[in-house]
Amino acid sequence: MESIGEHEPVVVIGAGQAGFSVASKLRDFGHAGPITLVGNEAQPPYQRPPLSKAYLLGEMTADRLYLRPVEFYRQKSIDLRLSSHVESIDRTKREATLEDGSKLPYSRLVLATGARPRLLPAVIGGALDGIYYVRNLADIDAMSAEFGAGRRVLVVGGGYIGLEAAAVAAKLGLSVTLIEAAPRILQRVAARETSDYFRRLHLDRAVDVREGVGLKTLVGKKRVTGAVLSDGTEFPIDFVIAGIGVDPNIELAVGCDLEVENGVKVDGHCRTSDPTILAAGDCASFPWGGGRIRLESVGNAIDQAESAAMTIVGKERVYDAKPWFWSDQFDVKLQIAGLSAGYEKVVVRPGQGAAVSFWYYRGPVLLAVDAMNDPRAYMVAKRLVDAGRSPDPSLVSDPAVDLRSLLS
Ligand code: FAD
Repeated sequence: MESIGEHEPVVVIGAGQAGFSVASKLRDFGHAGPITLVGNEAQPPYQRPPLSKAYLLGEMTADRLYLRPVEFYRQKSIDLRLSSHVESIDRTKREATLEDGSKLPYSRLVLATGARPRLLPAVIGGALDGIYYVRNLADIDAMSAEFGAGRRVLVVGGGYIGLEAAAVAAKLGLSVTLIEAAPRILQRVAARETSDYFRRLHLDRAVDVREGVGLKTLVGKKRVTGAVLSDGTEFPIDFVIAGIGVDPNIELAVGCDLEVENGVKVDGHCRTSDPTILAAGDCASFPWGGGRIRLESVGNAIDQAESAAMTIVGKERVYDAKPWFWSDQFDVKLQIAGLSAGYEKVVVRPGQGAAVSFWYYRGPVLLAVDAMNDPRAYMVAKRLVDAGRSPDPSLVSDPAVDLRSLLS
């Protein structure tokens, strides 16, 4: 499909990281036509990562989360519509309809609708008061009043979100129990070595980490007062934080008959099954390594959004994802380069002091690296993984080998 004329309208649905990035990149690439960025949250686009880190800890104010101050959108002639929910898309008329009935005509539409947390089912007490999720600024503002020292929190889910929330709660003096139904925390995303590392970190800081045990039910009349686990243990709690994964927001795509497959299905140019509609960020699944994946990371949201903007202005480039991620827990910064799925072995590289990195290989191929408090290992690993280069594991594991020599 041809690129659009520079004065034709673009509508971006979802004012998160990906939506912001598409809109601002379109201006950078010289698109002069109307751009409308519609988001159903009250705040201008903001960073989510600090929500479970510095912001939850009270070390960051809300305005510092904003990707740009509101004047930016005026300066760039981006029509930012906040607290506005898009109800439906009419592909024949090429218009999006907002909750208030107003219509937004488009030549190109971008779905940047993100993802939303999976909820604890009502049958196990999920509808009680005192249960929180970690997705939006409003979620964090609602839960922060619960964070008094000595209060008892149950964290459900030992993924990055649950572990980060548990770390903040423990730092603030709460009594924290974290449960993970899988045999180990981080099982879905990391090797045993990384799980062992973070289990130790949390146990040493008095987080009661229980693995291989699920939530049977929450107890309480109106508000949660206790929990019963799948192993029969029962204990009192003051509130719950659930981090049990997210689902992509695909309803708009389904409603207008776009193809979906673990998210809105896009091609390498971020086009959905309707080439006038593109998608990027947490809501989109894209071709990768002969299959299809959906990534939930800031880096993906930014880069895929840039590719979508390029497609719109006719600077076509296949989106070549270079995954990276990070997590902060207590005094540890974890940095991840690449995707470890399908790894066969893990090579341990000791760093200086308590720093360490785990290098994931499939056969001779380096897939990914988890670096704990080791920014140098991360930087070298990222360059290697991005370039598709695989150093000999015996060199990686030898602390006498200078990491930078692996790049030459
Ligand atoms: P979102 O940020 O979810 O934005 C989508 C927006 O669209 C939302 O505001 C949503 O409400 C809105 N929307 C949806 N449907 C409609 C509609 N119909 N009409 C109008 N608006 C709509 N990534 C990292 O790389 N490193 C980290 O350390 C990290 N930490 C994280 C910590 C937390 C607590 C969370 C929640 C995420 C974290 N992530 C991290 C993931 C990262 O923040 C996401 O991958 C990224 O925000 C995805 O951006 P997005 O624009 O695709 O989606």
